[in-house]
Order: sequence, then C-alpha cells, then structure tokens
Amino acid sequence: HAEVNNLPDLECRNLVVYINPFSGQGKAMQIYKKHVKKMFAEAEIKHTVVKTEYAGHARHLARDLNLASCDGIVIVSGDGLIHEVVNGLMDRNDWKIAIQTPIGIVPGGSGNALAAAIVYASTGQHASLDLVTDSMFEIIKGRSRDLSLVYIQSQSSFYFSFLNVGWGFVADVDIESEKFRGLGNARFTLGCAVRIASYRKYHGMVSYLPLEKSGIINNGSKTQTTIGTSFKTKTLAETNWNNSSSAGIRSEESGYFSSKNTKIFHISSSLHESLPNEWKSIEEEFVWVMPVYLSHVGQDMFMMPNAKLDEDVIYLYCLKSGVGRAQLLNILLNIADGTHLNISSENTLVVPCRAFRLEPFTNKTGLLTVDGEAVSYEPIQATVTPIKSRIMCS
Ligand code: ADP
Ligand code: MG
Repeated sequence: HAEVNNLPDLECRNLVVYINPFSGQGKAMQIYKKHVKKMFAEAEIKHTVVKTEYAGHARHLARDLNLASCDGIVIVSGDGLIHEVVNGLMDRNDWKIAIQTPIGIVPGGSGNALAAAIVYASTGQHASLDLVTDSMFEIIKGRSRDLSLVYIQSQSSFYFSFLNVGWGFVADVDIESEKFRGLGNARFTLGCAVRIASYRKYHGMVSYLPLEKSGIINNGSKTQTTIGTSFKTKTLAETNWNNSSSAGIRSEESGYFSSKNTKIFHISSSLHESLPNEWKSIEEEFVWVMPVYLSHVGQDMFMMPNAKLDEDVIYLYCLKSGVGRAQLLNILLNIADGTHLNISSENTLVVPCRAFRLEPFTNKTGLLTVDGEAVSYEPIQATVTPIKSRIMCS
C-alpha cells in the first residue's frame, strides 16, 4: 500500500460517511465493513459513520451538517442518496460554500451511474469487475472535480439534478423493477425484459434549446446538423397548463429565477411561459425520452460516451413510437458499450441542448424520474446552471 501512503494530506482528512441500508441489495453496511472501513484505516482517513434511517434523511443530514468539522461526505448507496445530499447542500443558506464540499461515491445501490461515470472520467476505462474498489481509490487519492448541476422545476417542486430525467420506457423499468431490488443491478435487465413485451407509448411534447453547434450525435463523435427527418419540429410551443407558481420558485425579473435562499441564475424561460423562438418542439408519441448529463446512466449503461462531468450540456435522447420491439431490444442491448448511438433510425433523436421542457399530454398515469427517483407526473422544465458540486475523482 505504498502508493496509498505516499499521497499527501490524507491524515488531515475527516470525512462523514452516509450509509443507506436500504439501497441495492441491502448490502451497503457490508460494503462499508469489508471495503470502506479497511481502506480508510490503511489510508489513515478519519471518518464518522451515519446510517440513514428513512428516505429523505440524507437530505436533512446534508442540510444540517457542520461543514467546519468535515472535509467531505462519502455516500455508500446509489444515485438516489447522492441526489438527496446535493439537494440538502443546496437547501442551505450557505449553499455557495456548502455545494463545494467534496462528495465521494461508493456504489452500494442498484443504480450507480455516478460511480461508473467517475471511474470512466478518471481512467478512461469502464470500471473493472470491482466498482467498489475502483471507487474507493478515487476517494482515497484525495482529488476532486466539478460536477455540473441541472436545475429542474415542475409545478409542485424543484430539484438540482446531476444525472438524468427519465420519461417512458426506462423510467417505467426503473420504478417497476423496485420489486426486484434483491437482484441488485440485474433488476434493470429483468425489468427491461418484462417491460419490452408490453411497452407503452406516451403522447406529449418535448421542447429543447439546442446548443449553437447542436445536431444529431452519431457514434458519439460525428455531428450532423439536421434532425431526423420524421421528427417534425415546431419553433414555438403553446403552453397548456395553468400559471400557478411553483413551490419555492418565483420570478425575479425577466429571464431570472430565484429558488429559495436567493440562488439566482439565468434560465431561458420558466415553465409557465411560452417558449422563445430559439427553442424547438416535437409533438409525438414517444416510447422513451431521456435527457442525460453523465456518460453513464447505470453501472452498465454507457448512455452518452461524450458527456463530461463538468460541461454545461444536456444530451436529449428520444425514441418515438415507430420503433419496433426488435429495434428497441437492440438499442437496449447496445447501451452497455455505447454502440446504441450507432443504430441510426428515423425514430431516434439525440441532440445536445441547454434546456428542455417535457409535457406529457395524456391524463393517464405515467412515470417521470429525476436521477432515478420517481417524481410527480406533470410537465417539467430543466436548464443547465453555472452551479457545480465537487466530487472526489482524480
Ligand atoms: P438504489 O440505487 O438501490 O435505488 P438509492 O441510493 O437510490 O439506491 O436509494 C434508494 C432509496 O432509499 C432512496 O429513495 C433513499 O431516499 C431511500 N432511503 C434512504 N435511507 C433509507 C432507509 N433507511 N429506509 C428506506 N429507504 C431509505
Ligand atoms: Mg435509486
């Protein structure tokens, strides 16, 4: 362990470790005892353990954490607990300082997208078979990087998000496969198999503010300047919901919004306004819509190979209902290595953008997820922000 011991400042660090005993297959505490505790002892990193007791606990812990007494937060769970911690830090009056607290991730959940994205960003490789050990090295090395945060508002709530929004197929799988939680990561594979036999179509409007240089991404590298021919775009979407104001969000002046604690940053347009001309809108029957801002959306899902941790880009991925079962299956199978983006189809759209709005049209129930957690099924709008959190990653 010479490599570990030679690194500077390790013994100065004092971390708090949040463990979610409910996450994944319920093995987070075992992962802590077998890996985290041992490696911290070898690296002489002091730490305090807190076991989360209920959903939302980690948000409260992060909100009330004494920052002066701690150099970083380590999370042993999945993406859901990271979402809680980020939002807990953003809830604080001192959020500008608090959000810079380095966050380390040990994959203990069934959805471990950020852990996989960190290892990929650091090494250029997919995690080895042992994502836990790979992740522990990222924490122990003591370096941190910026992680971009996207601001999401709905009529009833608002969130800071680091991973994705899901609507349609994979959101359904994500939430419906909760009952297969005991399978760990494999729950998604089984969930997909179950869902593909009876996949639903979602009628709605997807709007987005393209990057200047935006276009379809093929192959993660080649950029074209046109949008799939069968996607009819409108330049202006009519808003079709009422103007009730969102919790904690109020309009300050044109183009600026403030959520509570005076977090002010530019947002192109609010959920309640009709969209400016630069936006494009698509009304369609969709099978799957997923705006994503990390390379991975799950441990084995290399969804957007081009996405960087610190860039201000949302990659909007849409599949429209013309996609057949066989093609959908083919796409899902190829996500593991990112080659799904090579499957060109008039039913596929991948577009880098700065902001998006999703409007489900049906009154039927459906599922929307933010960072893998279900949120209420209603129109939502999101924008990139200049706000960055810090994650332990070399
Ligand atoms: P997974 O990847 O397995 O879904 P997450 O980190 O997303 O793991 O956590 C799943 C959910 O567990 C989150 O919604 C979180 O709020 C919740 N949670 C945290 N602590 C507890 C607890 N003690 N009991 C039940 N749920 C909890
Ligand atoms: Mg989760």
